[in-house]
Amino acid sequence: MNKEIFEKYEIIDAHAHIFPEKIAENATVNIGHFYELEMDSTGVSSKLIESGKKIGVKRYLVCSTATTPHQISSINSFIASECKVHKEYYGLGTTHALSEDIEGDVKQILSLGLHGVKLHPDFQKFNADSPEAFKIYEQIEGIIPLMIHCGDNRYDFSAPKRIANIHKNFPKLKIQAAHLGGYQSWEQAEEYLTGLDENVCFDISSSLAFLSPQKAAHMIRAYGVEKCFFGSDFPMWSHTDELERFLTLGFTEEENRLILSENFKRFYGI
Ligand SMILES: [Zn+2]
Repeated sequence: MNKEIFEKYEIIDAHAHIFPEKIAENATVNIGHFYELEMDSTGVSSKLIESGKKIGVKRYLVCSTATTPHQISSINSFIASECKVHKEYYGLGTTHALSEDIEGDVKQILSLGLHGVKLHPDFQKFNADSPEAFKIYEQIEGIIPLMIHCGDNRYDFSAPKRIANIHKNFPKLKIQAAHLGGYQSWEQAEEYLTGLDENVCFDISSSLAFLSPQKAAHMIRAYGVEKCFFGSDFPMWSHTDELERFLTLGFTEEENRLILSENFKRFYGI
C-alpha cells in the first residue's frame, strides 16, 4: 500500500489477539478451525507488531479469552506482562461466567492495570445475557469496559439481541461490541444494536471481508461513524488487507480519522 495513504492517520488496532509463544501455534490453528478460515498469521507479539508496522499502527488493544475458568489468572498475568514489554499495548483481561470468583478475577484485572474485560461467549459456552454472566457486568459496570464477541449464525450465545439485553440491564456498562456487533449475523446486529447510546460502540474487525463495501458503510453509518473503531482481529487478518478494505468504504478523511483512532481514544479515555 502507498505509504502516503496511511501516514496521514494515527492508526489504532482496537482488536488483536496474542498468546504465549508455546501455545500460540495451536491456539491459532484452533481458531482457524472454529471459524473455518485460513489464518493470516500466528498470534504472537512479534508477528502482530511486524504486521501492524506495515501500516504504521501506533497502539493495539490486545486480548485473549479463557475458554475454561482455570485459565483466567494466567491469561490475565500474560496480557499484563506483554503490556509491560510493549508500551504500545493496551491490554484487556478476561474472566468467565462460570468462574467461582468473578470478584477476585476483576480485582486481579484492575490490580494488573488492565483496561477492560474481553469475553467470547461462543468459545466460553455461556449466554452473554445469562444470570451468571450478569455477575461479571455487575462487577465492572461504570469501572472498566467490556469487549465482547458478537454474533455467529451457528451459535446463539452471543447473538446481537443478547448484547442489546446486556445494555438494557447495565446501561452504564461501556460495551465494545466486536465485529460490527454481529459476526455473520449482520441483519440481527443492525436490528438490535442500532440507535443505542454512546456506551455501546463497535469494532469493525472481521467484518469487512464478508460484507460489500456498501453494506459495511451502511452499517457503520447506521450505528454512527463516531461509534466505530478500526481493528484487525489479528491473527485472523493482516493489517494491510484490513486497512485496504476499510479505505474503500468511502468515508471522508475526518471520518477515517474518527474510526482509525479518535473514537477508540475517547471510549477508553486515553
Ligand atoms: Zn476477539
